[in-house]
Amino acid sequence: MHRRTLAELAAGLRKKEFSSVELTRHYLERIERGQPALNAFVTITREQALAAAEAADRELAAGRGGPLTGVPIVHKDIFCTQGVLTTCASRMLSNFVSPYDATVVAKLKAAGTVMLGKANMDEFAMGSSNETSWYGPVRNPWNPELVPGGSSGGSAAAVAARLAPAATATDTGGSIRQPAALCGVTGIKPTYGRVSRYGMIAFASSLDQGGVITVSAEDAALVLGAMAGFDPQDSTSVDTPVPDYTATLNDSVEGLKIGLLKEFFDKGLDPENEQRVREALAVYERLGARLQEVSLPNLPLSVPTYYVVAPAECSSNLARYDGVRFGYRCENPRDLMDLYKRTRGEGFGAEVKRRIMTGTYVLSAGYYDAYYLKAQKVRQLIARDFERAFQEVDVLIGPTTPTPAFALGAKTSDPITMYLNDIYTIGANLAGLPAISIPCGFVRGLPVGLQIVGRHFAEAKILNVAHVYQRETDWHLRVPPGWA
Ligand code: GLN
Repeated sequence: MHRRTLAELAAGLRKKEFSSVELTRHYLERIERGQPALNAFVTITREQALAAAEAADRELAAGRGGPLTGVPIVHKDIFCTQGVLTTCASRMLSNFVSPYDATVVAKLKAAGTVMLGKANMDEFAMGSSNETSWYGPVRNPWNPELVPGGSSGGSAAAVAARLAPAATATDTGGSIRQPAALCGVTGIKPTYGRVSRYGMIAFASSLDQGGVITVSAEDAALVLGAMAGFDPQDSTSVDTPVPDYTATLNDSVEGLKIGLLKEFFDKGLDPENEQRVREALAVYERLGARLQEVSLPNLPLSVPTYYVVAPAECSSNLARYDGVRFGYRCENPRDLMDLYKRTRGEGFGAEVKRRIMTGTYVLSAGYYDAYYLKAQKVRQLIARDFERAFQEVDVLIGPTTPTPAFALGAKTSDPITMYLNDIYTIGANLAGLPAISIPCGFVRGLPVGLQIVGRHFAEAKILNVAHVYQRETDWHLRVPPGWA
């Protein structure tokens, strides 16, 4: 059953080839077997899952329910889940049982999906390798010595190893697309404001966006349709209708204008990785699309800009973890200052502290203009570069990452090298644009990703462009050895 895509599983449920309880049991068994090897989960919600599956089966038997009724799904542990541990992979929230559901969780629950558990991730979504988790690293199903990418590494590894047909994820600087690329699965980051951030634990509020990791673009279209939409609880949520993303998947790409970002094909790109991307572009040319080189001159500034803006926002967002209202609290505080200091000293990991310190520094009175304000200006320039490019082309296509997955521990001692892993993904976050990563082949036995960036709210277009490629190729259907 796990070899099928989510769309095929949903069809199987409707045709009563199997029940949601059978499907859920099947995935729970795979999760229990896979967890010791991959560590993709923080929490497995077996009892709740089986109860939800029974309820879904009753709906299906009565001829009710929607396209996702009875489909198992995993939530990244950054999404609040009522009555279920919600840790953000931090010691700070290691005892936090959320009193409410995030809007994304509530919507997917209302759509009839069955939550299997909560996916491991980098602590507070800060990382590119899933090594900053308080619960230990996640391993890449293609090779357990390698990282799965991050911060949504648990979500990507779970889908790649077919421990779940879909997993929610979040992307602040690449955390959906980069792990999707490194694990050989499909991951979409929608336009900023398309998916509600209510109940999604904040890292950098002007960049954070929820999305989903699946096997195929068709699956992503189904899940995103149920997640997206206006939410009065999120002041940055945009009130524009959600189209049926599945309706336009098969639109022709004849005459589609594809922009190749000059800045993406730079010297940092692994030559074999580049080769796979060029082969994918040839598929589009064969289907009648036209390629055109475009340049975004300010794009090389995206990593330094991000590493001012994101830490600044995180230092403000993470101020709430004070040991008073919820979460971790140190033992026997002497006084209030001691409570704050030790709670935060013990509750946060090294990468989170590094970001809080950087953020506090760039926002301080003496350095605000030199760093924070300057970064905001450069962010505008990058956004304008994208706007200009989209006057000439319909989508931008390039690599998702410079290299395939790297070894556990390879980059942990050098934060800058780690940060450079997101060089191709951060631009879309700074400009708030939708982007998807899809598998486009292998380099030295490891999957690599193709990134498609679209105009604001053009999720339907990038899903269409991704789906058309997946009709021609089967990279997305490859399963890591040992997980078939
Ligand atoms: N890797 C980037 C970071 O460490 C992006 C993380 C993310 O998108 N959540 O901040």
